[in-house]
Amino acid sequence: MPIRKLSQDVINKIAAGEVVQRPANAIKELIENSIDAGAKSIKIKTKKGGLEMFSIEDDGCGIAMEDLPLAGVRFATSKLQEYTDLKDIGSFGFRGEALASISHVGHLTITSKPASQQVAYKLSFDGGKANGEAIPSAGKNGTLIQVKDLFHNMNMRQKSYNPNETFAKIADVIRAYSIHYEKLNFSLFRIDKSQTQVRSWNLPDRKTIIEKTFSKEVSSNILTSKLTDEEIGVDGEIFFTSSVYCGKKFILLIFINNRLIESKQIKQIIESIYEDFLPRGSRPWVYINITMPGRNIDVNVHPTKMEVQFLHDERIYDLIKKKMDMFLIPTKTDRTMSVVP
Ligand code: ADP
Ligand code: MG
Repeated sequence: MPIRKLSQDVINKIAAGEVVQRPANAIKELIENSIDAGAKSIKIKTKKGGLEMFSIEDDGCGIAMEDLPLAGVRFATSKLQEYTDLKDIGSFGFRGEALASISHVGHLTITSKPASQQVAYKLSFDGGKANGEAIPSAGKNGTLIQVKDLFHNMNMRQKSYNPNETFAKIADVIRAYSIHYEKLNFSLFRIDKSQTQVRSWNLPDRKTIIEKTFSKEVSSNILTSKLTDEEIGVDGEIFFTSSVYCGKKFILLIFINNRLIESKQIKQIIESIYEDFLPRGSRPWVYINITMPGRNIDVNVHPTKMEVQFLHDERIYDLIKKKMDMFLIPTKTDRTMSVVP
């Protein structure tokens, strides 16, 4: 076959498929947009695990009527101007890709009202393009993003997903954000079951949020420690269950510079630490929150931004290990001692 250039439409669809692998990725991006917009409350609703519909409503700064047409266009952002800005980026977004990508794989509607505007405006997008012009609409201050029929044009993906699984992943993301952003109010409502699944509304502290979004068993067995290494500018904390807690599923929430990330290395380290402390088949619950200088971390490794690379990684892993060992050993001894008459 001769070499041919792919059409822009195919290129966009491939790129979009990478950013939006499942509803949970899209919702994570939209939550980050709401946080970037200064929202205090973020309400998420889903139908059929987000595959038929999901929406996210915030009370952030909103998008002005004249900016609406650009919001769903690829590489259009209000957050990054120069490549050099990337290392100092204070916001989550920077690629201007999330909304456009979503519109390539689902039907996207944005309704938004900055406080300075009299009414909200609504505009829908498909394939990275606005459908006509924004029209006035009822709406509160803030932004409502609705996505319908995700993957309607990707038959394989639509069929291969199980709504219960896609929903579970959405709930995982929202629990993680509720815990990390303890001052923000999150809720997740499952329309097809008429059920609120996660709610962190006006809870006083992180421990209570852990109790309400996970369980009392987790929150009452939590140990905490600071993670600080001044020389490399690392600061943070770790919350982890003691050896008394025996969970069924390993829960690991990692935030670096306020981004929810995944790390195989950290996962392995923690698993091996607990191997010595937990009975077989028991799993821990761990939340790690680390901040480091922006220049030491590369968030541009992967389109979903779930993988990041950072400097001094080995040193940070050692710090985590040291702190956990220090606290877990005494709880282990306590337990053994308590059975001795
Ligand atoms: P990025 O976040 O990388 O800039 P997005 O496609 O996620 O790209 O969003 C495009 C633009 O739309 C943002 O730069 C922002 O100006 C605006 N926007 C998106 N979501 C919101 C929101 N919830 N509140 C206010 N503005 C938003
Ligand atoms: Mg964004």
